[in-house]
Amino acid sequence: MKRLVACFCFLIVACAQSAPPSPPTTKPATQTATLPPVSAPTATPTVKPSATLTTTPAPHARRVVILSIDGFRPDAIALAPMPFLTSLLTQSAYSLSAQTVYPSVTLISHVSMLSGQCPIKHKVDWNDYVPKNGYAQVTDLFDLVHAAGGQTVMYVGKEKLRQISEPQSVDVFQFINDRDLVIVADLIENFPADFRLLFVHFPTADWMGHVYGWLSWQQLSVLRRADQALEQLVAELNQRGLLSETLFIISADHGGHDQLHGSSLPEDKTIPWIAFGADVRPAQLTSPVSTVDTAATAAFALGLDLPAEWDGVPIYEAFGLPVLKESVGCPK
Ligand SMILES: [Zn+2]
Repeated sequence: MKRLVACFCFLIVACAQSAPPSPPTTKPATQTATLPPVSAPTATPTVKPSATLTTTPAPHARRVVILSIDGFRPDAIALAPMPFLTSLLTQSAYSLSAQTVYPSVTLISHVSMLSGQCPIKHKVDWNDYVPKNGYAQVTDLFDLVHAAGGQTVMYVGKEKLRQISEPQSVDVFQFINDRDLVIVADLIENFPADFRLLFVHFPTADWMGHVYGWLSWQQLSVLRRADQALEQLVAELNQRGLLSETLFIISADHGGHDQLHGSSLPEDKTIPWIAFGADVRPAQLTSPVSTVDTAATAAFALGLDLPAEWDGVPIYEAFGLPVLKESVGCPK
């Protein structure tokens, strides 16, 4: 009964979100970098890694996709299992011991992931949809890409993620209060063919974790669905001939333990960080990775200058490059 009540309450909370009023906005600092024009893809679309690093000294991604699987612990990959993601690892530069921020909660972590800045700097300290709080008041990846003339897109399963970036920097924002496969189906149906930055958020694993527990069979079963949704998204990019020019990063905002997360426990803070696609050199990474490095790696791959205030650094090792600056992450 307790579980049923918890589930019911959760559903009320999950479903109680309606069209939000417009929060106050503050325009981010103007960026001057520009993106190169997108040309029609000519490469044969495959999931295989592209050029070797001896001929490609710096990454050249025309597009970046960042997929965050909410509450996704790296040890769930084998347990679920997630066969498509497992096969992708052989073509990826990846860490299964990347670290998110403290507190390890959804909105605060995602702002760090996409702004390259630790919570003490981005100052988002709430974890609900609170329109009166506006948006994270820092220059984030969406600001950079949009200011450089690129289309930016967010497809999310939690409305509070609207508060990551100002609407003027997010050309397409879609909140779908549904399962991961439904989110991807909608994205494919309304595919933003000219995007430069696409952030996709899968909410379901976190929902199941809170109701049934982290690594419960119920959560693992929806992670298998997340794996299918990921496969469909990659297949769509492939079918459109975009995959070879795309840097794809798969990560998470936090893990979890029991029916919780938010602490500095390794179970909560350890996340996967998996990059594949444009100029990635497949390998298990030996250098440390923090979630704030996600935005930095994406900006680096797109050829954009990183704001000096960002805490994150590009994961050079993912492209087979010398580590110019080591990731230091955020305070515990
Ligand atoms: Zn979360």
